[in-house]
Amino acid sequence: MSISPLMPVYPRCGVRPVRGENCHLIDEDGTRYLDFASGIAVNLLGHSHPALIGAIQRQAETLMHVSNLYGSPQGEKLAQSLVDATFADTVFFTNSGAEAVECAIKTARAYHQHADGDANRTELITFTNAFHGRTMATISASNQEKMHKGFQPLLPGFVYCEFDDLEAAKALIGPKTAGFLVEPIQGEGGIRPASQEFMSGLRALCDEHDLMLVLDEVQCGVARTGKMYAHEHYGIEPDVMASAKGIGGGFPLGACLATEKAARGMGFGTHGSTYGGNPLAMAAGQAVMDTVANDEFLAEVTAKGERLRARLEQFIGNYPDLFDCVRGMGLMLGIRMKVESRPFFVHLRDNHKLLTVAAGDQTLRVLPPLVADEAEFDEFLDKLSAGAASYDPAVAA
Ligand SMILES: *Cc1c(COP(=O)(O)O)cnc(C)c1O
Repeated sequence: MSISPLMPVYPRCGVRPVRGENCHLIDEDGTRYLDFASGIAVNLLGHSHPALIGAIQRQAETLMHVSNLYGSPQGEKLAQSLVDATFADTVFFTNSGAEAVECAIKTARAYHQHADGDANRTELITFTNAFHGRTMATISASNQEKMHKGFQPLLPGFVYCEFDDLEAAKALIGPKTAGFLVEPIQGEGGIRPASQEFMSGLRALCDEHDLMLVLDEVQCGVARTGKMYAHEHYGIEPDVMASAKGIGGGFPLGACLATEKAARGMGFGTHGSTYGGNPLAMAAGQAVMDTVANDEFLAEVTAKGERLRARLEQFIGNYPDLFDCVRGMGLMLGIRMKVESRPFFVHLRDNHKLLTVAAGDQTLRVLPPLVADEAEFDEFLDKLSAGAASYDPAVAA
């Protein structure tokens, strides 16, 4: 037997964390890493936030799981918090981002397959270099062939369009179009924010043709950009939206949010999940919402994002051969490199004990916990500067 007990789908590195302390991870042999990856935009309160730990402990002692056959005071409360803080009128809870996107796809299809709809409208237009998850529907929604290989046949009903190209999106609308599925800021694709024109344009096309604007805010949502959800920067609202990652602060939780109109097809018996919305997950989500969903917290993320970005922009000027530009919003930042970003990310991790995330389009993702502050930014810039000074792309490659 040569296959590992853990199915070998991840090329795991030598860092083996066993403990977290605010913005740091400590591994098996005691090495401390500065964590500006945050479990890929998940641990927005860091690794040891007392409100989150307390909420999970109290709920675990009281009631961990019950079936969705019963009433859910905890779920009603968290759904109300999300409805109060967003465009949405209704929420379905999931355990992951891909499941939240799955629910969003089903909601958009069911809108058109409702008695008042046009059942021919089954296709979602999706965008190049998108990432929506690893289930069959969500890999089918992405044009990235590396995720398709070995898993044919894909699910029908997705049409790929160039990201941020409004004219191309408009040209693809036909009698089968159900709507658009798009990340306002592509995460895995390389921290690429859509343009204002593109987002307003998609909203206008949806209004004109009775289509569903479905946003995937799994990575950019939940205060990460200084707004509760990134679409607020564009002054538009979706019909349906998938949220996850940061929403549980590290506890597995996702949500599909929709307007009343968009959710018209999602009646009794149309969808479900055994774990989705269980009391333990609701307690974690509530602790996150109670901490981040207020103007003071969001203003702080915005201010911190501006400070970190300014420092990064000044820093990259010292290495014009290595770095191209800084992009993103709030504390969802990316450094676009002039060389491959993955070997540099490995160099920072192994030689400077700094955790970031590589992404598409030669981009290094900088995703600090939202509770990181000047002390952590200082440490980050120190490690990054040392990393850049000691980096030789020719040797690393
Ligand atoms: C991470 C991610 C997903 C998938 O979330 P999982 O929890 O891994 O299923 C979907 N969409 C986007 C934009 C993501 O970043």
